[in-house]
Amino acid sequence: MEIKRAKYSGFCFGVDKAVKTAFELDYDGKVYTWGELIHNQKVIDELGKKGIKAIDDIGILKEGDCVIIRAHGIGKKIYEDLNSLNVTILDATCPYVKRIHEIVKKEHEDGNQIIIAGNPEHPEVIGINGWCEGKALIVADEKDAEALPASDKKAVVVAQTTFKRAKYEDICEVLKKKFAFVIKFDTICNATVQRQSEAESLSREVDLMIVIGGKNSSNTQKLYEICKENCSQTYLIENADELPPFDKNVRRVGITAGASTPEMVIKEVFFHMEDMMNGHEGEMDFSKALEMTFTELRTNEIIKGKIIGYNNNDVFVDIGYKADGLIPMEEFLDDPDFDPERDLKDGKEIEALVVKINDGEGNVVLSKKKVDSIRGFEMVKEAFKNNTPIEVVIKEIVKGGAVADFKGVRIFIPASQISDRYVKDLEPYKDKKVKLLITEMANKRRIVGSCRAIIEKEKAQKAEEFWNGVEDGKEYTGTVKSLTKFGAFVDLGGVDGLVHVSELSWKKVDDPSSILSVGDVVTVRVTSFDKEKKKISLSYRKMEDNPWYNIENRYTVGDVVTGTVLRMVPFGVFVELEEGVEGLVHISQISNVRIGRPEEVLTVGQKIEMKIMDINVDLKKISLSIKEVNPLDPEQEEKPAEVEASQDEPTEHAEEMTNTIGDIINEKKD
Ligand code: SF4
Repeated sequence: MEIKRAKYSGFCFGVDKAVKTAFELDYDGKVYTWGELIHNQKVIDELGKKGIKAIDDIGILKEGDCVIIRAHGIGKKIYEDLNSLNVTILDATCPYVKRIHEIVKKEHEDGNQIIIAGNPEHPEVIGINGWCEGKALIVADEKDAEALPASDKKAVVVAQTTFKRAKYEDICEVLKKKFAFVIKFDTICNATVQRQSEAESLSREVDLMIVIGGKNSSNTQKLYEICKENCSQTYLIENADELPPFDKNVRRVGITAGASTPEMVIKEVFFHMEDMMNGHEGEMDFSKALEMTFTELRTNEIIKGKIIGYNNNDVFVDIGYKADGLIPMEEFLDDPDFDPERDLKDGKEIEALVVKINDGEGNVVLSKKKVDSIRGFEMVKEAFKNNTPIEVVIKEIVKGGAVADFKGVRIFIPASQISDRYVKDLEPYKDKKVKLLITEMANKRRIVGSCRAIIEKEKAQKAEEFWNGVEDGKEYTGTVKSLTKFGAFVDLGGVDGLVHVSELSWKKVDDPSSILSVGDVVTVRVTSFDKEKKKISLSYRKMEDNPWYNIENRYTVGDVVTGTVLRMVPFGVFVELEEGVEGLVHISQISNVRIGRPEEVLTVGQKIEMKIMDINVDLKKISLSIKEVNPLDPEQEEKPAEVEASQDEPTEHAEEMTNTIGDIINEKKD
């Protein structure tokens, strides 16, 4: 009897990673999982024996506790809350789910409407929504999509990773009619699709099919239904005890398992079946066949193969022999940018080292990491020799610095060399990709790198490029580095410039922090610079925000306009036509009869109609006349009390008034 197990059976690699993280953890303190790690009671019970409990209330946590984030992931706010408590976070969010978080975060920040196709109650969907401040629209089906109001916004659509592809397509078709612009991201995970299609084809080949998984698990039920359609002898079992007795005529048995079925349960079933097979002696001699297969391979040999598939534990490689090679999946998971769809594409060539010709189950055990390490060391030596930068991943924070990994080669980065500025806490650098130069290389165990050297070099290069290309009026994008009373310093990439407080806005600004914050990314314009002194002045004001911009398109001489009296001076009144645009009504233009002071006929805040007599765009001056529209007569106006009291004031004002009028007339002549 032949037993064939589906490659895509049991935990998907995302769930498997989360479970391994929890079981392999050796933590000196309390450990929790944020929500139940997986929907499998056996696993939850085992975790309970290790003292690991599921929580969903942050109030339970204390400083020093450890929290494991499950494959479903969590929202941004929960990360922030956990970080603020100083607890250790072990993030086992599946890379597929993380990718959705990144999309949602970026698109939400860009002002787009996020739509999630999925079950609103599912923790994965709740977590995704937490990356756009809970503002996503969640649709479970086309009906929900139909119910959304039409909008002229740009909609960005993502799907829960286990969502049905056909349903997702239908929802998107509805959304296209509702939103002016729809961008759809393909976020459905292939693990479920692959599992189902493999179960379907396997069930066609065999005489009997075993589906292992919880009877209340919907994805296991689905597998059972698919298999049953093709193979009448299909059994759904939860564990080895439920294995049915096999008919003598059964020669080929297929095994598949649901996404929440632990490997140990599948193996248990497998061993039981082998025991049953031994009762049918003489039908098959596996070991002999396997030995014949692998005679041409040598251990520690580096070979090339082609990826033909993967499951939660292994990547399958066609190495040109009768048996496939297996690379443990965990060798890939260390890379924070690992994307199984891209990196494990069928047919992709891969180099690996033969670790074992026969692992006892007839597989060739391969290691990609060992080849990476050999190749990596050669590349590090080259980089040191040529002083060229390499990109590494920071793996550990240790005393005095950090340890980075470059294709399996460990590189120490002293704390002072991690940045060009002092960094007190190195933890945020963990799992980040950085570029460095190798500064010391005694042997494979003592390799030292510096990010600082490369940052300083890059900054110097950028500064040189900047000073070579700087021009008055040129626009740059930079980041606000610091704020002072007199303005904001903006980092333009290697060069800092100052935006003086008067250049922050067209309006009067008392406090620069009312306009900008440290970290803001801004577009600024060069107003002046000094290459020798390395000084640069910038403006944040935009021409189109200037209230006088295109004023001639809004006002014409002869127009009758309405304005508000802003302030009075002895020679007239200043009137606001719109925010930031003022005009002057000279005292002689208020009334047809002679008036001593504007207060005799006007009050501050009064709305008044006037005719535009002159516009001088360069001097930002508009001359207005009230009398041309509706001359005010002091006899008919109610005089304000204080005006009466000041009737006999000295004549200094008259002189000032005459001078100022003279100035205005001269200016006009100029
Ligand atoms: S996204 Fe796919 S691989 Fe990741 S946890 Fe979900 S089902 Fe598993």
